Amino acid sequence: MFKFIRNKIKLTRVCPFHDKNLETPPNQILLDSVPYIMSKKPKAMQKLILLSCVLILLSCSGKGQSKTTKKNKMTDTTKVIARTEEQWKKILTPEQYHVLREKGTDLPFTGKYYLNKEKGMYTCAACGNELFTSDMKFDSECGWPSFDKEISGGKIKKVTDYSHGMVRTEILCAKCGSHLGHLFEDGPTLTRMRYCVNSTSVDFKKK
Ligand SMILES: [Zn+2]
Repeated sequence: MFKFIRNKIKLTRVCPFHDKNLETPPNQILLDSVPYIMSKKPKAMQKLILLSCVLILLSCSGKGQSKTTKKNKMTDTTKVIARTEEQWKKILTPEQYHVLREKGTDLPFTGKYYLNKEKGMYTCAACGNELFTSDMKFDSECGWPSFDKEISGGKIKKVTDYSHGMVRTEILCAKCGSHLGHLFEDGPTLTRMRYCVNSTSVDFKKK
């Protein structure tokens, strides 16, 4: 459709310089070409201008809608889940509640996903937020499931943790605020990142 309109515009602009029926010399047409065309073919030009305006409006409308849809999707993925601790206690097992809501830690080398090498997706055990893929997991030999990067989109929140006489970076689910583990910058892969995560904090969806 746009190609067709472009062709139409091109033809109309070229027309005065090649139209054998024109009485006005080309140098005068150059200066007055637009009014000339308007006077000669007012209906055709009006239709063309009207059609162009409609197409521009539709194009703008389409872009706006696309941005709105994208914004809505972004909002959905980062939508905060607000629950009281009493509500979390009803939803989670006591073990999950302790790790996720009270910042507990799995004993090393005991978590069910520590040695998991299956392909799939790791999600927040409290709210289902997608956090890591199996491709991001590596064997850190530290005793907890470890990942060298997170799924993009601000799904994980980082805060400074001063507990136990240390300064560490705590990682939390950005959607529900649940504790996941800690982030260290001593990873063996190119990212140098080690997301050290409790197995209790995540669920695994096999591909
Ligand atoms: Zn969550």
